[in-house]
Amino acid sequence: MAEFDRLAEIEREAAEACAGAATEAALEDVRIRYLGRQGVVAQAFRTLGQFSSGERPRLGQALNALKASIEAAVAQRAETLAAGARGARLSQERIDVTLPGRPLALGRTHVLTRALDEIAEIFLGLGFEIVEGPEVERDHDNFERLNMPPYHPARDAQDSFYLGPEWVLRTHTTVVDVHVLDTRRPPMRALAYGHCYRRDPADASHSPMFQQVDGFMVDERVRFSDLKGVLLHFARAFFGPETRARFVPSYFPFTEPSAEMAISCVICGGSGCAVCKRSGWLEILGCGMFHPRVLEMAGIDAERYTAFAFGMGVERPAMLKHRIDDIRLLYENDLRFLRQV
Ligand SMILES: [Zn+2]
Repeated sequence: MAEFDRLAEIEREAAEACAGAATEAALEDVRIRYLGRQGVVAQAFRTLGQFSSGERPRLGQALNALKASIEAAVAQRAETLAAGARGARLSQERIDVTLPGRPLALGRTHVLTRALDEIAEIFLGLGFEIVEGPEVERDHDNFERLNMPPYHPARDAQDSFYLGPEWVLRTHTTVVDVHVLDTRRPPMRALAYGHCYRRDPADASHSPMFQQVDGFMVDERVRFSDLKGVLLHFARAFFGPETRARFVPSYFPFTEPSAEMAISCVICGGSGCAVCKRSGWLEILGCGMFHPRVLEMAGIDAERYTAFAFGMGVERPAMLKHRIDDIRLLYENDLRFLRQV
């Protein structure tokens, strides 16, 4: 019967169409063309009624077989295409595990932070406690408690950033000493460090923001020789065992007597060079014995107790140690510089 030949022809064409579908989308078109609701197979089913009741069952069977055959062909082709796509993706995304990894960009601590840590470590070894305080202070604590009343000329040298009449960005970490003196009782040894602010225009050796360490020791019979011993130990631990120290009389409102400490030049060893301006010495800090009034204002018996104190910028020692000649480099965050120190 001609109808059976036609069905065989459809089956052959469908098989070829499936095999020729190069993508999943093309295969879907084939499926719709043959198996969709308006597809070739559905239309063939609709012609069943034209045949005699004797022919219909066999023809129905043949149509069902045709439908199953095409479904199988589509499914098989779909499987093949999926496997191919997987293979292509696998070969494209294959990872070469033997390639070296990409290095992570690791940061590190800033040269000033390292200097601070190093200084703190030395004083911790001498039994000093590390203390911190706020960067915004009362004018009263920052100045008056350190023997600088409003009319005192020493304020001019530290003229700073005020936040209203009462509050000021601290001009020295010595103000942290005041808080410690208020809250503890002797004997005590403490080292404060942190940022300070002064109205200094930035140049090679000044910055309106800088860091300071400030230490003090209060006990019975603390003498100037204790101060010299502690600071010489610090200088040798930080700059090297050959370092010599010199104390020159100076003035600070909150210490009496006061001194500047200079160390033998770390560049030339004391013979004279451009860095030490041919003198062989480098001033690195100010120090002295706390003025009795400073202790009294904290309620400490100045007849019984004495105290030494010292304060030092952190930038200068760090710059000397690493041969840095401009303070601004420390705050510009230029990686070309920071990678070298
Ligand atoms: Zn020198």
